[in-house]
Amino acid sequence: MPDLATHFLVNYCVKRGLPHLMPRYFAFSSKELYPFLWGALLPDLFSRAPRIGMGMISQQLSLPYPHFFHHALGYFHQPFGYLLLCFLISQFFPLDTRVSIFKNLFLGGLLHYLLDFCQYHLEPAYMPFFPLSTCRMEWGLFSTEASLYSIPFWLALAAYFFWKVPPSSSDLSSSSLDSSQ
Ligand SMILES: [Zn+2]
Repeated sequence: MPDLATHFLVNYCVKRGLPHLMPRYFAFSSKELYPFLWGALLPDLFSRAPRIGMGMISQQLSLPYPHFFHHALGYFHQPFGYLLLCFLISQFFPLDTRVSIFKNLFLGGLLHYLLDFCQYHLEPAYMPFFPLSTCRMEWGLFSTEASLYSIPFWLALAAYFFWKVPPSSSDLSSSSLDSSQ
């Protein structure tokens, strides 16, 4: 997987950059930005991170490694399992924001998955159609370490969007409406 910093920066640049480059098709809303950024992190936070924790605990306490939970957690890193996770998380939010939260969590996570899918491993590592198919595949466009070298580029681009690109008119108009009420 690309590291979490790269995932976060890529999601930020895409969410800020698309409305800037194609304002007719993409509107920027800061309310949508945050769930989209969480989407960059959740697939790994719900699968890889607990696996690392389980490995450390089982090693420290000399317990057998819980392989069942290892595989079960991996489901949250696959598109269908992640879709279910987004649905469950969105249920904790007010009714009028659920669809937006769900959509942005999922699209942000899909971008995460797309980046992961572009890497190459010793053998294909991803099952995009699980549980319908256990066929493993990946595009293999760059190595697993390549994301570390790209961080300065994404950092510079994110800084540009953060400081130089103002929010779109739709976001400005909604914030001015909020402040006028
Ligand atoms: Zn990942």
